[in-house]
Formats: sequence, C-alpha cells, structure tokens
Amino acid sequence: MTPEELRNIIDRAHYFGLLQKNPHGQLVHAPFSLTPYRLPTALISKLQIHTQWSSLLFWQVAQNFDFLKEMLEPTAKVDEFIRFLVSLISHEKRQDQQLLINRNDFLFERKENGELQPLQVEFNTISASFAHLSERVTSLHQQLQQENILKGSSLLHDAIVGFASGIKDTIENLGWQDAALLMLVQPKERNWFDQMGLFVALCKRGVPVVRASLAEVNEKGKLKNGDLWVGPQRIGIVYFRAGYSPGDFPDEVSCSARRMLEASSAVLVPEASMQLAGTKKIQQVLASSDILREFVPGSVADQLKAYFANMFGLEEEVEGRTARLFLEEHAEQYVLKPQREGGGNNVYGAEIRNFLTSLPTSEDRAWVAMRRIEAETTESLLVIEEQAQPYQSISELGIFGLLRAQSGDLRLNMPVGHLVRTKASNVNEGGVVAGFACLNSLISIEK
Ligand code: ADP
Ligand code: MG
Repeated sequence: MTPEELRNIIDRAHYFGLLQKNPHGQLVHAPFSLTPYRLPTALISKLQIHTQWSSLLFWQVAQNFDFLKEMLEPTAKVDEFIRFLVSLISHEKRQDQQLLINRNDFLFERKENGELQPLQVEFNTISASFAHLSERVTSLHQQLQQENILKGSSLLHDAIVGFASGIKDTIENLGWQDAALLMLVQPKERNWFDQMGLFVALCKRGVPVVRASLAEVNEKGKLKNGDLWVGPQRIGIVYFRAGYSPGDFPDEVSCSARRMLEASSAVLVPEASMQLAGTKKIQQVLASSDILREFVPGSVADQLKAYFANMFGLEEEVEGRTARLFLEEHAEQYVLKPQREGGGNNVYGAEIRNFLTSLPTSEDRAWVAMRRIEAETTESLLVIEEQAQPYQSISELGIFGLLRAQSGDLRLNMPVGHLVRTKASNVNEGGVVAGFACLNSLISIEK
C-alpha cells in the first residue's frame, strides 16, 4: 500500500467518525484493522443465542443476593472495592424495572477435527463499550468494499439503535414527565466518540441526556422523595460508563454519590448486584460447578458450560496440590485475574510465577486463574497511529445483549450487534483505547 492509499483510508476513517482522543486530548483515528474477521454464519447465530442465555443467567444470578454475598464475602474481606460494591446491595426495591446492557466476549480455538471452538472470555455487565465505534468501523469497511479496496461484505449491525430503543421504552414505562438518562462518565474520557453515539441516538428519540461524573453528581444531584434529580432534571435511568474501577472512587465524595444513585428510584444500568454478578469470581464459580443449574434450565446450563474455559480460585486445591503450586508448574497455560474491569489488570503466562512470589497468600481470594485460550491466529493488516502493518493476529468477538424486566418478569432479551477487536498475537490484553487492539468488522462465511 502506498502512503497516499493509506492516507485516503485514514481520511475515510475520520469521515466515518472512527475517532478517539489521544493522551494529549487530540482527536486521532481509533486503531483499526483492514482485514475483516470471518466466521461461519451458523456459529455467529449460535453465539447470539448463547448471549441471550448468558444474559438470562447473569440476570438471575443478580437477583439472588444471598448467593452473591455468600460467594463474594471471602473476596470482599481482602478486596476493598468488592467490599464497597457488596455494601451497596439492598433488598429495598425502589424500582421494579430493570434494564441490562451487556457484552459477551469470545475467543476461538481451532480443534483437531478442524472445527472452531468458541470460549467465553468474560461477560461484561458494566460499561460495555464500543457499540458505536464498532458500527463506525463497519461503515468504513463497507465503503472500502464498495470501492474495491477491501473484499467481501461486512455485516451491518445496529447495537446503538437497540440500546436507544430499550432505554426509550424503559423511560416511557416509568410514566414520568421529561425523565432524563444520566450517563455517568469518567472526568477525562478518551473514548468520548463511542459514548456520543448513544448520546445522539437518545437525543434523536427525544430522551434528554445528562452527562456527569460521580463528583458532579455529588455536587448537583439530590434525592427528592427517593427520586434522583441532577440540577433541574429528574433522572429515570442511570447508565454507567464509569464506576467499574476503584480509580473511579478516589474519595468519599464519589462513594457517597454512588450510594445516592443506588438509593434512588432510577433504573440503574447496572444495579450493584448486576455489576457484582459480572465479577471474575462469580464467573469462576459458575464455570467450575454445577451451580448454574439452579439459575437456568439444565439443557441451557449444558450449552453455557460448553463455552467455559477451566477456572479456579487461587485459594483452591488443584489436582492434589495448592493452586499456587499448580500454577508454578503450568503458568504458561493460565491467566490470573483480579476482580477488576477495564483492562490492564491481568497477569499472563510465565509472569504469573514472579507475580505470585510478591502476592501475600492472604490475598489469594481476590484472584482467579483461567486457562489461557489458545486462540487461532490469522494474518491481518492493522492501522495503528497512522501506520499500516501486517500482523499475525487474534480476533475477539463480543456480542452485545439487551435485557428488560419488570417486577421480576422478563420482557425482552435479545442480541443487538457485535464488536470485533483484532490484536497482534503476542499481545495479551484486549483494550482499544489503551492501544492493545484494533477495531474490526465481521464477515459471515458459509463454513
Ligand atoms: P477486563 O475485564 O479487564 O477486560 P478480561 O478478562 O476481559 O479483563 O481480559 C482482558 C483481555 O485479556 C481480553 O480481552 C482477552 O484479550 C485477554 N484474555 C482474558 N482472558 C483470557 C484467556 N483466558 N485466554 C486468553 N486471553 C485472555
Ligand atoms: Mg471486562
């Protein structure tokens, strides 16, 4: 590719709004792939169904406060952030509507018989991002396909329309005049464009949106008869694009703002219990026992299990020895995860050995180990900071899910679009804003 051809493609990326802010606050293109990811049509459908079942499972888990508290109590003792979130769970229901916006992430291993085996990396119940930029990269690829610069035809999806209509229906159901959505954000958000996609779609549908950080909520927010107001706006829904990491709660002010949200009558996307259902510890408990049969029908449980990779807690015994000793021997085949979201927190492969020598055993219950998924690699042309380079790469597919419930009855549960992130195969983490991964589109193929 000539520098001029690359320039033309990058200009189109700007035109289609495939943008993010760099650490200096300047607008730059988000990293993207020029090799759409290909998956069989039948497999994509299976993963969409799997996502509906997963949404059902995690919604059920989130209703069972006793289960959550029992499973997370030992972790909460050694992890202050989890302790804070557990303290927010309350039996006092002030709102009988529930709305979940989630993303189910998968990697793919090639089995000996040639079939692709999907494995769930994790189910994100809070701040699942990139629905909008995923649509933007799809539009860019479709344009390049029209111009015969790329081959094939990428799959359209409309996750943002799905989220926006789910939000509008929920707000209308509240029956409150002029209720707004509060989009809770981090003060210096670099992924602003992605958030703007939903912001604009809501404005178009006549849903007022207030964007504020926890500190701003503390300053301008108050409860009146249990209802949340931010300035002159009554808030019907709080959509969390912040609040998933301890860094979002640097002081008592932000903690008390979160408590106020949780105590209000607003629909929280997600409620604290749903956020906790999405922790790695709960994923590990569900993956390593038959307990999920208590939450979903047996046949569904079997299907969900088929895509779980082996997981265990660091405090457990594994194959007759402590998990620590087991990992000492098998570090390369594992990923060690704390109860954190947002990327950059896991310990991969051989690094686990050194890491464990510095980790006090008292903190074992804050960590879970997961078998490292040996994802199939393909060659991809990736554009990072205006440079195009071929990489042997791994692609991760996320399916967005939308679930609505009222008074404990399921009203809607559907997949609403997808995200593909492609990264060099020697890179462990998956974050796009952090510069680890590139946005990509999806092409469905026969086989
Ligand atoms: P976070 O909540 O911080 O995003 P994840 O568990 O999703 O944490 O892990 C971050 C990234 O690390 C994933 O997007 C994936 O690319 C990689 N990863 C996580 N678990 C595994 C695994 N078991 N095998 C291989 N890669 C993994
Ligand atoms: Mg996550």
